[in-house]
Amino acid sequence: MLRILKNMGIRSEKICPAVAPLRVSPDRLKGLKGVRIKGDIAAFSGGSELRRERGELQFNENNISGICVFNLAYLFQQYEGRLTLRADLAPDMTEDELATYFKTVRTDRHGSTAEELLSGFFVKNLAVWLIKNVLGRSPAEPIESISDRDIAALCKGIKSVEFEVTGCSPWQNAQSTMGGISASEVNDELGSVKYNGMYFCGEILDVAGDCGGYNLQWAWSSGLWAGKHAALSLKGGKHDKSR
Ligand SMILES: Cc1cc2nc3c(=O)[nH]c(=O)nc-3n(C[C@H](O)[C@H](O)[C@H](O)COP(=O)(O)OP(=O)(O)OC[C@H]3O[C@@H](n4cnc5c(N)ncnc54)[C@H](O)[C@@H]3O)c2cc1C
Repeated sequence: MLRILKNMGIRSEKICPAVAPLRVSPDRLKGLKGVRIKGDIAAFSGGSELRRERGELQFNENNISGICVFNLAYLFQQYEGRLTLRADLAPDMTEDELATYFKTVRTDRHGSTAEELLSGFFVKNLAVWLIKNVLGRSPAEPIESISDRDIAALCKGIKSVEFEVTGCSPWQNAQSTMGGISASEVNDELGSVKYNGMYFCGEILDVAGDCGGYNLQWAWSSGLWAGKHAALSLKGGKHDKSR
């Protein structure tokens, strides 16, 4: 449809999946499949924070999902594939508070393994992943081998785990579309500024909302608005482009 409209001289912005999981290298996600955790997630490009969300992160084999990630997905295309996600896995505690807590756990669980330092605070798979990936240590090492310095590094890591985004999930996994017919192609009644009697609504227009009902609301509201004005234009005869 967009191709036909393009041939008619109607301009559209590049379309891509939005409101979708973001892809990350399976190597980076190894061991995290199935983990769900409430946290903060921020999208960065070129060192600048673009947007931050809070919610449930869901780790899969090759992507990170969850409403908070869905809402960042459009940034992948906008920043031409240069996107990093930075997760804070304990957003309600400071690094110092975490460090104090883990030092107490280390004392209480004397004689156990490094993995036990984080068990109970994080699910097992995530605890193991953090010990391996943030500390570069084996979860089977004695808990006493984790120094104060290691705990400080671990706490810093827990509050800023980075994932390079390698792509946005494909159309099949996306809830909506970024891009479409440019806003400059329609008037206030959602009629074409170039063709009388042609109206647009919903996803074909360059309008994209966050997850949470905004896209459906846009589809319904714009459909009602465009339909009403299409009917009025028939009734009134000539379509007034200036309105
Ligand atoms: C899995 C999933 C979950 C979603 N969850 C949410 C949510 O929770 N909240 C929310 O706000 N949004 C959600 N969305 C997005 C929302 O559904 C869409 O934004 C909305 O349906 C778009 O409405 P639309 O009428 O513009 O397009 P569509 O719903 O895509 O309707 C277009 C219709 O046109 C038909 N069509 C296409 N080409 C032709 C043709 N040439 N001739 C005749 N008919 C044609 C299609 O078959 C289709 O029926 C979700 C989307 C998906 C895929």
